[in-house]
Amino acid sequence: MSVLRIVLGDQLSMDISALKGLDRAADIVLMMEVMEETTYVPHHKQKIVLVLSAMRHFAEELRQIGVLVDYVALDTPDNSGSLSNEIQRAIARHAPDRLVVTEPGEWRVQTMAEGWEALTGLPVEIREDDRFFASRARFAAWARGRKLWRMEHFYHEMRREHEILMEQGGPAGGEWNFDAENRKKLPASTLVPARLRFAPNAVTRTVMALVEQRFGESFGEVEDFGWPVTRQDALRALHDFIAAGLPRFGDYQDAMKAGAPFLFHALLAPALNLGLLSPREVCKEAVAAWRAGAAPLNAVEGFVRQILGWREYVRGVYWRLMPAYENSNALQATRKLPAFYWTGETPMRCLREAVGSTSRYAYSHHIQRLMVTGNFALLAGIAPREIERWYLAVYADAFEWVEMPNTLGMAVFADGGKMASKPYAASGAYIDRMSDFCSGCHYDVKQKTGPDACPFNYSDSH
Ligand code: SF4
Repeated sequence: MSVLRIVLGDQLSMDISALKGLDRAADIVLMMEVMEETTYVPHHKQKIVLVLSAMRHFAEELRQIGVLVDYVALDTPDNSGSLSNEIQRAIARHAPDRLVVTEPGEWRVQTMAEGWEALTGLPVEIREDDRFFASRARFAAWARGRKLWRMEHFYHEMRREHEILMEQGGPAGGEWNFDAENRKKLPASTLVPARLRFAPNAVTRTVMALVEQRFGESFGEVEDFGWPVTRQDALRALHDFIAAGLPRFGDYQDAMKAGAPFLFHALLAPALNLGLLSPREVCKEAVAAWRAGAAPLNAVEGFVRQILGWREYVRGVYWRLMPAYENSNALQATRKLPAFYWTGETPMRCLREAVGSTSRYAYSHHIQRLMVTGNFALLAGIAPREIERWYLAVYADAFEWVEMPNTLGMAVFADGGKMASKPYAASGAYIDRMSDFCSGCHYDVKQKTGPDACPFNYSDSH
């Protein structure tokens, strides 16, 4: 009895459910690099490098513990370019009795997986992805019968259920949320720590060359690639965050500074979303730092809320509301995405900074995403699908299940309040308060009308 076990590009966890019960003598693990996954949006080159390099490292780790891996590389001769075709070709090679896969993270691939039984004529078992705190069914049970979905309510339930930051039946420190302490402007004199980055090894460099060759015209630069592509490096990144970022993450999580895209942020979303780290272990490490007196509660709670709260909540929203959700447009916004989202060529310094770090690192932090690129799209009436596809393409951590609700529900309020309580629209005064961008900008943040007025202040009524 041989089982073909499919491991997708964002399922790079040794304890992924598709590998449970694996028979090393008989089963084959199939991993596939295919063009359809690298081109369904015009991904940033670093994002493709990240996923393919991490997949190649994971395959090698499996081989080293004696697992039989059939790895189809992007440049394997006869690669058909699609997951479904490659599965059929692998069945011809190995003649398995059945297929096992962990539920895919994205609707598009889930729909594909549901068709594999009919396509191949073999039984296909789609297993739950148990790496999350809340299964899809758990979120559905929470959402059922509620008129209003709010992350805070869901988050409190998750805190209680998983006993994270709880003391004597209540929230640690007596409050669920310490955001009032988390909105500080960064003093100009604050030294920003250098963050741990990972120089590309031979495997990553091979992938970088392949990506330059196949996707040379795509957005973004690859030279500064520094993301962890193995579990070992992802753990080092986690420890770097706990030591160098977490203690001040809370205070300055909404701050922005020119030339300093990382500040005190975790930089862990790419590793988490690929499966190199688990949400449980990152929460555990953060809470342990607080208990050891190495990080304050406002920082640790703020970080835990991102992982146990927002990350789980947006996944739940995605699976409850897809596929209709992707066409949300409550504000009936129709404008095209301006070209400067790709080129960075704009006199608006805040947008230039955000697009610049996006191009260089496939990264900008959540306040740049929400209050600069997202806020501008909201105020300018950019069609939600245009900005949503942009976010999905350009960030190393952008997988649709997490990116789409963050964009449609939070950044541009396209779902009309299904996910978030209010539109995150703000004038230039907010950006001026939280950053050092405006002092060096072509526009005047204090003006509301006229050619020099900050575009974030401008509206049709003026
Ligand atoms: Fe951005 Fe306006 Fe400030 Fe310029 S003045 S950096 S456009 S907020």
